[in-house]
Parts: sequence; structure tokens; C-alpha cells
Amino acid sequence: MTRSPVWHPFTQHGLEEPIPLVTHAEGAILHTADGRRVIDAISSWWVTTHGHCHPRIVAAIREQAGKLDQLIFAGWTHEPAERLAAELVPLMGLPYVFFSDSGSTSVEVALKMALGFWANRGPREGSPRHRILVLEHSYHGDTIGAMSLGARGVFNQAYAPLLFDVGTVPFPVVGREQATLDALELACLTQSAAAFIVEPLLLGAGGMLIYAPQVLAQMHAVCAAHGVLFIADEVMTGWGRTGTMLACQQAGITPDILCLAKGLTGGSLPLAVTMASEAVYDAHYSPDRTKTFYHSSSYTANPIACAAALANLAVWREEPVAERIADLASRQAEGLAMLAKVPGIANPRQCGTVIAVDYVGGGGGYLSELGPKLLAFFRDRDLLIRPLGNTAYVMPPYCIEPDDLALVHEALAEATGQ
Ligand SMILES: *Cc1c(COP(=O)(O)O)cnc(C)c1O
Repeated sequence: MTRSPVWHPFTQHGLEEPIPLVTHAEGAILHTADGRRVIDAISSWWVTTHGHCHPRIVAAIREQAGKLDQLIFAGWTHEPAERLAAELVPLMGLPYVFFSDSGSTSVEVALKMALGFWANRGPREGSPRHRILVLEHSYHGDTIGAMSLGARGVFNQAYAPLLFDVGTVPFPVVGREQATLDALELACLTQSAAAFIVEPLLLGAGGMLIYAPQVLAQMHAVCAAHGVLFIADEVMTGWGRTGTMLACQQAGITPDILCLAKGLTGGSLPLAVTMASEAVYDAHYSPDRTKTFYHSSSYTANPIACAAALANLAVWREEPVAERIADLASRQAEGLAMLAKVPGIANPRQCGTVIAVDYVGGGGGYLSELGPKLLAFFRDRDLLIRPLGNTAYVMPPYCIEPDDLALVHEALAEATGQ
């Protein structure tokens, strides 16, 4: 057999593992070329919210593609972007919207906005701040800047010489939240921090780690007290995953800068936004061209992707999305209660529509012996579940059928035999 020229992400081709070919998808189901019906229990890596090929989103993409496909966005504009930004502002509670193409770029933009904010305020504010504070076990993307913010490990070891230093605050483990707040306060006081970036309530790639809304509110308060910009990376947690539109809403906070991507188009096309407060925008607003926000990519605010995002917002407005999310969360809670009793399963946990469990044994970490066995076990059962080391999680599209979700929960229980 000849080898495919495709080089896949996060895939060790040397292991020669099978790579399924998917021909079409609907709802929470993927159909493969060899006739299998696969349940997408991880929303195709956390992006698909209302299900694959939602008719309304597909129709919007078709229509926009025939009207205006792409446009330079520096100094030009188009209706889908204008309408989308106007709709995002009241929904997310921040007044300005900067477009990009992926979660990683939305984070890069957030960092540049934060540093630009401090640099543009000028000498009267003291020397510009540039230190970024992060939470332990975080993940913010795979570009160099976003990687610098994330936990160091096997994923970025080879690139470590290119990564910049950040101030790391310990993860708020239950019962030790005060240590996190104290460390954050100390860092704000001593490191002349420009910004603190967090994944609100749920750390995804770091192992589906959960902390309480109250802690999020307290971390926000510490930053506010010291004038450190608070960046919420809701790339994964946004669009209902944690039970509310934004995870930040559960803590009653509005960040200074907000990153959204994944579910922004319902998971149909790549698009991201970085939303900013009045103060952050104002720091760049000037007749002085050196204070311009210097960031762009070719496809900034692509009209077709914006049309898909507008259709996503229409789905949120006109379909019972909140009910679907509440229903999914309660079915997930039932499944988790069953899993919690299974020997070999530890740390059952839930945040909104997402559940996670750890399998005992096999050693920890992403390269846990257990990981590949679990992956193969789920694949053989026609389930798309991609464990993080010996952690398995279920983050399905909100439309997943009860029978399909039950199959997923049963498989998680039976995987203890691996
Ligand atoms: C996925 C993710 C990113 C990166 O998004 P991409 O679109 O994959 O670049 C950033 N932050 C968080 C919290 C994520 O889960």
C-alpha cells in the first residue's frame, strides 16, 4: 500500500495506526468510507456544538459563498462581519471585536492587545508591562506565543528554546484555592504583570480539570485590584459547553479581553474573535499611527465564516439550545453516577455538558501506557473518543441521541478492562 502524503496533527505516523476516512456526517454521527457509523463523542475536537452539517449553517455558507467569498479586512468591511460583531457585543458584554482564524491566533491577538495597551499608555504610567501570568496545567494553543503560555511537556519540549517566560500560578485544587489567590496576588505585586490569562472553570487539554466559579470571580477580583488585564480564553468553554453561554457568566465577571473560536461557527468553519474592553481599544485609538494595532492575517473575518457564525447565533436565538444543553448535562450526570461506581475509575467529574474520568493504572501523563489502548478500544467500538493520557472525557454535540450517549457511557465503563 502506498503511504498517504498527508501529515496529520498530533499523529505519530510511525505507529502505523489506522486513520479512518470519513465521507459525511450529520448530528453526532460520522460515516466512514468502509460503512461504519461512528459516534462523535468529542465534537470533532470540541468544535461541533449543534451537530455536524446543521442545515441552517450549511444554507448560510452556501448563500454567502455565492455573494462575497473573501475581502481584504484592513480598511474595508462587509455586512456579515458588521452584523456578527454587532450581535456579539451585547451577547458577550464587551464593546469591540477583532477577528482572526483560530483559537491560537485569538490568543496571540489577546497577548498583543495586552502589551499594546501597556505600551501605548506611555511613560506617565511607568515602564510598559509585558509579563504574562498563567494558570498551571493550561493550554492556549500551538503557535509559539500560545504555546509559551501553556504547560510545558512532551508537546513543546523540542521548541522550548523559542518559548518566552511566563509567571505560573498554581491550579486551584479543591481546598487549596487560597494558595492560588495568594500566588496570583504576589505575582501581580512583584512581576509587573501585563495580563493574566485563564481557561475559565474547565482546563481542557490539561486533563479536563475543574474549579469553582467563585475561584474564577476571586482571581478576577485580584487582577482588577492590581490593574492587571484579565484575559478569558473561552475558546473551548464558550458556546454552552459549561452549561452557560460563557463560563465567565457563572462567576458574574466580564474579562478585559475574551477569546472565542471553536463553537463560534457552530464548528463548521474556522473563525475566531478576540473581544476587548473600552480601555483596551482606547489605548490603541489615536491619530498616532505608531499606536495602531498591528495584527492581520489574510483571511481575517472571512465573509463565509462570518455568515456561518451568524447562522450559529440564529440557531442559539431560535432553537431550544439552552434546553438541549440542560438535558445533555443531566444525561451526562446520570452516566457519570453509573461510572463513579465502576472499579478502576477515579475522579469522576462534570462541568456542564462535559464529563471526565481517570483510569487507574498505566502510569500518568499524556504518554501513559493506557492511552493508546483506550484509543484502540473506543475506535473498535465505533466511538470517537480521544483520551488525554489515562483521562477519558465526553464532550458531545448537544444533539446527541440518548441511546448513542448511553453507548458512550457503557464503553467508558467497559474500558476499565484495558
Ligand atoms: C483549542 C484551544 C485553543 C486553540 O484553538 P485552535 O483553534 O486549535 O488554535 C486555545 N485555547 C483553548 C482553551 C483551547 O481549548
